[in-house]
Amino acid sequence: MSLPPQPALEVAPDALIDTTLSEPKPDVKPETTPDVKPDVKPDVKPDVKPDVKPESAPPTAAQSIRVVEDFGHKTYFISGVPVHFPFQPYPSQLGMMSHMLRALNSAQNTMIESPTGSGKSLALLCAVLAWRQSFEAKHRLILANVQQTIRKYAEHNSMAFVGQLLTASLDDDYADFPFRREAPKPADTPMSADSDITLDELMAEDLSHVMPDIEPAVKTDPAPNITVGATAFSHVPNPDAEVAPATNLSSPSQLTMALFYMPETAQFILDQAKTLPPQGLSAAEIDELRDYSQNAAHVKTIPRIYFGTRTHKQVSQLVDELRRKTPYRLRSAVLGSRTQTCINRKVKKSGSVDEECRKLVDDSLCAPHRAYRKLLAHQKLQREGDLEIWDLEDIESLGKETHACPYFAARELASSANLVFCPYNYILDPGVRASAGVELEGNVVILDEAHNVENAARDSGSLELTDEQLNVIAIECRMMVDRGTLANEHQVVETLTTTLFNWLRGSDHPYEYPEFDSQTAVWPRSEESLDALLERIMLSPRFVSRLRSAYSVIEGYIKDVRSRKERLRREEDYQVVWKPNEEEEEEEEEEEDTRHLSAGSMRLLEQLLRVLGHLAPDSPFRQDYRVACIRKSKFQPAQADEAAGAKRRPRKRRKIASDLPASECVNVLAFWALNPGVVFSEIAAQARTIVLTSGTLSPLDSYASELQVKFSSTLEASHVISSQRFRALTVECGSSGELLEGKYKNVDLLTFQDDVGHAIADIVARSPDGMLVFVPSYSLLAKLMARWQVTGCLSAIEVFKRVFVEPQGGSKDEFDRLLTTYRDSLAKNRPPGRQPALRGAIMFAVYRGKVSEGIDFSDYFCRTVVNIGIPYPAFKDVKVVLKRQYNDDRSVPDRNNPGQGVLLNGSKWYDIQAFRAINQALGRCLRHKMDWGAIIMLESRFAQRWNVERLSKWVRQYMSVYRTFNEAKLDLDAFYRARIQEDIDAGIDESIVNEILPACDSLDLSPSATVTADNS
Ligand code: SF4
Repeated sequence: MSLPPQPALEVAPDALIDTTLSEPKPDVKPETTPDVKPDVKPDVKPDVKPDVKPESAPPTAAQSIRVVEDFGHKTYFISGVPVHFPFQPYPSQLGMMSHMLRALNSAQNTMIESPTGSGKSLALLCAVLAWRQSFEAKHRLILANVQQTIRKYAEHNSMAFVGQLLTASLDDDYADFPFRREAPKPADTPMSADSDITLDELMAEDLSHVMPDIEPAVKTDPAPNITVGATAFSHVPNPDAEVAPATNLSSPSQLTMALFYMPETAQFILDQAKTLPPQGLSAAEIDELRDYSQNAAHVKTIPRIYFGTRTHKQVSQLVDELRRKTPYRLRSAVLGSRTQTCINRKVKKSGSVDEECRKLVDDSLCAPHRAYRKLLAHQKLQREGDLEIWDLEDIESLGKETHACPYFAARELASSANLVFCPYNYILDPGVRASAGVELEGNVVILDEAHNVENAARDSGSLELTDEQLNVIAIECRMMVDRGTLANEHQVVETLTTTLFNWLRGSDHPYEYPEFDSQTAVWPRSEESLDALLERIMLSPRFVSRLRSAYSVIEGYIKDVRSRKERLRREEDYQVVWKPNEEEEEEEEEEEDTRHLSAGSMRLLEQLLRVLGHLAPDSPFRQDYRVACIRKSKFQPAQADEAAGAKRRPRKRRKIASDLPASECVNVLAFWALNPGVVFSEIAAQARTIVLTSGTLSPLDSYASELQVKFSSTLEASHVISSQRFRALTVECGSSGELLEGKYKNVDLLTFQDDVGHAIADIVARSPDGMLVFVPSYSLLAKLMARWQVTGCLSAIEVFKRVFVEPQGGSKDEFDRLLTTYRDSLAKNRPPGRQPALRGAIMFAVYRGKVSEGIDFSDYFCRTVVNIGIPYPAFKDVKVVLKRQYNDDRSVPDRNNPGQGVLLNGSKWYDIQAFRAINQALGRCLRHKMDWGAIIMLESRFAQRWNVERLSKWVRQYMSVYRTFNEAKLDLDAFYRARIQEDIDAGIDESIVNEILPACDSLDLSPSATVTADNS
C-alpha cells in the first residue's frame, strides 16, 4: 500500500509495548517509515532472505510504531507494516500486533498470551490482514520489476532468445518448467531463432488472460522502444488474485509472452549470463533476477491465512469482529461441519448426518448437493455483496433460499479464500485437514484459544477402533470378495479386521489399570515388545505394506466409481431419454457395479494406516505411541451430578468390566500418541508462521517443549483492566480454623465441606449480581451440594443468589437453556439502569467443564469467581499415568538420539495441566476494560509463592493472602464498595449501596440452622 508522506505523530510512550521477547530475533526486517519507499524484497524464510539486516536488540516501542493521521484516519506503522485499526488501540493490543508482525515478517513462530477482554482477536485480525496486504503489494512490485527486466533482455537480445528459451524448456535442467507437459510440437511452434514475429507485434496481442494480475512496474528507467501491451497492464489489479502461471494458451505467441513471467525464465537468463554477459542489463538488474530466482518458491503465492479457534461459536465471534470492526475486506470463508450446515431435513433428523450425507452424495441422491455450485457464484457472496464476509449461518440461510448445499459450497469457497476461519481440529487433525482441503504449505496458521492445542494434537495423532467398527469393515469386505470385486485387495482388509476383532474379543489379555467400568492392557510391556505384539496381530511392517497397497487400489476403484456415477448423473440431468427395458436392465447392472466400501470404513482404514505409518521401524515417532486393548462397559456410569434439584435416577448396581458378559462390553484397540509433536511438527514444517494465542498459555516455555516446535518469541501481555478494578485474594483457613486444602484426602471430610460452604455463604452476602464457583470434579460438586442441603448452607446461599449447577452430561441445547435462565434471573433482579443487585445468581461449575471455557460472563453476569481446590487430572487415569511415565523418560537427553528434544518431567507436566485449568476459569469474570470483579481462592496452597507463580501474570502480581475469611472481609467489602460507588457516580441510585453491603455476620450458618430462601 502506498501512502502519501505524512508527518509522524507523537506516539505512545515506551509503555506502548509490553513485550517479552524470549530471544532477540536477528533477522527482523528493518522498520519502514511511511515516507520511505517500501523495500521491494519479499519477506522470505530467514535462511534464504538476502536483504535482512541483523538487529542487535529488539526495537523499542518508539522505534517500532509510528502513527500517520490522514483526514482523521490513523494508520499505525508497526514493523514496517501499515495497520488500519478501527479504534485507539490499547497498549497491549499494540504490543500484540508488533510482536505478531515481527514473527510474520521473519517467517517464524510465536506465542502470545493475552487475558480475555484485552481485544486480542481484533489485534490479531488487523495485524495479520495488514501484513498480508503489505506482502501482496511487495509481491506484485517484485513481479512487475522482474518482468520488465526480462522484457528488456528480450529487446536487447533479439527474439532468438525466445527460441532458445523454448528449447531449454524441454531440457531436464528445467524439470519444473510450467509448460513442459504441454510443450508445443515443433511444427506448431513458429517461435524460433529465425521467427519473423516482432516483439512489438507480440506485445500488441491481447494477452490479458495469460498475464498474472499485477500492478504496473515502477521502474525508473524503462526499457527503450518497448510498447507495453495496454490490455496486459492497464487493467485494475485485483488484489485478491493469486499469481499463478497460466498454462492454457491459445497461440504460440501467447505462450512466448507467458514465458516472460516465469521464475524459470529468470533462471534461464542467469544461466546464459554465466557464459556471455547479457546485453542491455545492468549488474543490479542481474542481481535482481538472481534474488527473484532464488526466492521464487517464497514469492510464487501470497500466503493464505488459516485462523483456527476452539468452537464454531468462537469462529462466529471472529467473523463478526472482521465484519463489524475491521476495514479489511478480502475473500474469506468458514469451514464447518455437516451437522451445522446441512439443509436436507431428512438427513438432519437422522442423528448421523455425516454418514447419511456420505451415502446420499455417493449415490448422487441429494438434490442440494447437486446444486451447491449455485452458491459459489451467488451475488451476495461476491465482492461488495451483502455477505462478502459471511458466516456459516449466512451461507446456511442462503443455501435454504437457493436449495443448494452450504456445506459443500463452504468447502469449495474455502479452497480459494485468502482467509479461512475454522475450528482448530480442521488444522490439527491430518484426516480432517485432508478431507477439508486445508493446505498449510507456505501459509500462516493462527490458533486462538490455543491452551487446548496440546491435548487436541495428541488426540489427533491417536486412534481408537471398537470391535464393532472392525466387524463392519470385515462384513463389507466379505461382500465385495463374494461379488468378485477386487477380491484380493478386499480379502487383505477382511483378514486383518477379522484378526483384530477376534483378538480384541479374546479372553487372555494381560489387563491392568483396572477402573470402575473398564480395564486396559498396554504395550510395550516387559513380557512383550510392541514389535512382537504388532507381529502377533497382523500389523507387522510386511503386512502393513500389503494393507497399504490394497487400500490404495480400493481407494482408486472408489474414486473411479464415484466419477462414473457423477458422469451418469450429469447425463441424466441434461438428457431426457426414453429407456427401453434392456437399457433399464443395463442400468441395474451398472448399479450393481458401483458398490464399494462405505466412506466410514475407508476413513477408519485411512486413519489406521496413518497411525501405523508412525509405528513403522523408520518413523521418528515410533517411541511416542502406546498400544492398548480396552474392555469397558457399554453403559456409562450414571451422570454423577445432575443439576441441583433435578430428580436423581436410581442407580443400578454397576459391575466391573471383567464381570460383564461379552454382549455388555465394548472392546477397543487404541493407539495413543503421547507426544503432540507427532502431528504438530508436521504442521510446523509446512506452515510459514504459526501463531498460538490464548489467555492461558503460561508457562510458555513448557508449551513449546511439549509441542516440539521452536517458538522464536513469546509475549505475556498485561490485562487492559487497571489493577484497581479487580481484587485477587487467597483465604487459607475455614471458619473451623482448619486449613482449606482441597486435596483428595480432605474433600470427603465434613469439616472441609462445611468450611467451604460457610465461606461461600459469606461471599454471596456481599458480592453483587452474578457469581461463579469452580470445583475440581463433578463428584465433589455433588458431594458439596448434598452436604449443604442437609446443613442449610444451600438455603443460606439461596437467600442472596439463585443457585445453578453445571450438568455433567446433557445436550448443548439444554446447557444453553440453563445459561439463559441464569442470565435472565440476573437481569430480572436488577432494577432498570445499571444498579448492582445483591440478589443475583450463582453458578457452581467444574474446571475444564462447559462453563469454564468460551463463555462470556461480563459485567453483572459475574462479579466474583471463587476457586476451590486445584484440578489435577485424575491421578490413576491410564492415559495420565502413561503420559507422566513418557515425559519422565523423555526429560533427560537421549544419548542415542542427540537431536531429540527434552520434555518437562511427568510431575511438572501434571502440575501445569491443573494450573492452566484454573487460569482458564479465572478469565471468566473480567471481559473488558470497564469490567470489574473479585477472584477468591478458597485454597491454602495459594498462600505458597510457587503456586501463585503458576497463575496468569495479571493475577499473580496482585494476589493477597488472608488467614481467615473474617480478615479478608474488610478488603473485599472495601473493594465492592468502591466499585459500586463508581457505578453510582456513573449515574446509579445511591440507596443501592446500603442494600448490598449488609452485615452478614448475623446469619446463622450452623448445620442445624434453617434459613428461609427469599429468591423472589
Ligand atoms: S450434501 Fe449437503 S444438504 Fe445434502 S445431505 Fe450432505 S450436507 Fe446435507
